[in-house]
Amino acid sequence: MGIGDWGLGIGDWGLGQIPNPQSPFYYNYFIIYVFILFEYLIILYYFIYLYLKMEFDLLHPDPNEEKQKHKLKKLVQKPNSFFLDIKCKGCGSLTHTYSCAQSVIKCKQCGEILATPTGGKIELREGVHIRRKGE
Ligand SMILES: [Zn+2]
Repeated sequence: MGIGDWGLGIGDWGLGQIPNPQSPFYYNYFIIYVFILFEYLIILYYFIYLYLKMEFDLLHPDPNEEKQKHKLKKLVQKPNSFFLDIKCKGCGSLTHTYSCAQSVIKCKQCGEILATPTGGKIELREGVHIRRKGE
């Protein structure tokens, strides 16, 4: 029973016939199962390869790396901006504002300048304390 006995794939089994191991076509079916098994193995190995070559762990992303990323490039998209309270160093009152405000932020009570706008985030004056909202 060598490879030459496998034929061209045209079996001699009809419906209801019992497969005969003595038939030269018996292994036609066997070789199809082997090929299907090999295909599954190749697909499995491909997924193992994809898993091993991944550059970062999607389940446990590095929080420091996530902080530095652009808001749309993070694993879960979320804005880098936030709302905050600034405490005036003179009178101690809180002023509610936005981290990327585009105008000069003054104290509600005494009118002292607390923060100035830059291109992105506001620049706080020295000595003021902030409290981030939603934390
Ligand atoms: Zn003040």
